[in-house]
Amino acid sequence: MKQIIRKARFVDDKPKDIVMADGKFVAIVENYAGEGEEVTFEDDVYISSGWIDLHTHAFPSFPPYCAEPDEIGYKTGVTTVVDAGTCGADHIEAFYQLANKSITRIFSFLNISRVGLSRTDELSDLSLISASAIEHALDSYPRFIVGLKARMSASVVGTNNIQPLLMAKAIQQQKPLMVHIGSAPPCIDAILHELREGDIITHCYNGKANNLFTEEGKPLLSLQAARDRGVALDIGHGTESFSFEVAEQALREHVQFDTISTDIYERNKQQGPVYDMASTLTKCLALGCSLKTVIQAVTEAPARLMGRDDIGTIKVGAKADLTLFKLERGRSYSWIDSHGAIRQTTYHIKPLAVYIGGNYFEL
Ligand SMILES: [Zn+2]
Repeated sequence: MKQIIRKARFVDDKPKDIVMADGKFVAIVENYAGEGEEVTFEDDVYISSGWIDLHTHAFPSFPPYCAEPDEIGYKTGVTTVVDAGTCGADHIEAFYQLANKSITRIFSFLNISRVGLSRTDELSDLSLISASAIEHALDSYPRFIVGLKARMSASVVGTNNIQPLLMAKAIQQQKPLMVHIGSAPPCIDAILHELREGDIITHCYNGKANNLFTEEGKPLLSLQAARDRGVALDIGHGTESFSFEVAEQALREHVQFDTISTDIYERNKQQGPVYDMASTLTKCLALGCSLKTVIQAVTEAPARLMGRDDIGTIKVGAKADLTLFKLERGRSYSWIDSHGAIRQTTYHIKPLAVYIGGNYFEL
């Protein structure tokens, strides 16, 4: 039986009928003449491809940086979560089993440390970076693992400086490498120098020393060179890694993010400053970005970086994943960044429901 959403309202196109069958999109047309189970949503409901959160902690075994995938996934309007290195090669099988039982789609950026975030200085011991363990994991789960993750900041790498990144570059094969940046060492220029097209810097608007900008707020020359090579920028909000001031200055300098992700886990979901994807998207609207830009950064852009053309898009043959949301208006909403700075809006993005593989879940 076909499912038909009549007159779906998009952020970047005129209304169309969306037709789904067997978990996929089968037609997107102005007036679908065929028959099926029909639904029409209210005029103010937007429909986008299902949201993809490229940086989460969706492997629930290692507190504090962990969460149940469905709690940070479909229940918040996110149809796909990517675990950014909570899990390493030693636990990938357990994670894969869990992913198969979840409603939310789940993928992995495999931590280059085989033990993942079972400890938070996971790259301080180079013997934990095993090329053979990573290769075995990539061979075993070639679709589940969409890339590698290396957390390159002082508390993680100990005295190893840039060495873990050099080792990651030697074993990443064709997959993208997501690199977390934070306090030095290693220094940011040395990190950027190693990255190539398709690699991803997460925490791109972090407000720490050793971030992507000079003290005057200008983009580093090494950042511009990395951007020219095709290195992508991911927001990765997190507890400590998103500054309104840095983001505003960055956008003035035309350093535009590619993807919007949360770096969400149990505590920063419950206590902030992250809360959920909708809050993070609304903060990006507060920066002055358009709704179209924001939605692309949580759909098409992350899918492209993951090398997937069957999610993040509403086209025939793709998986029937959709997020339904409103831009709800009110008097005033306050949004907090990782430094306690506040921005106000008179609107916020409110997710209402999702489709995952054609199955409907109301929030
Ligand atoms: Zn993270």
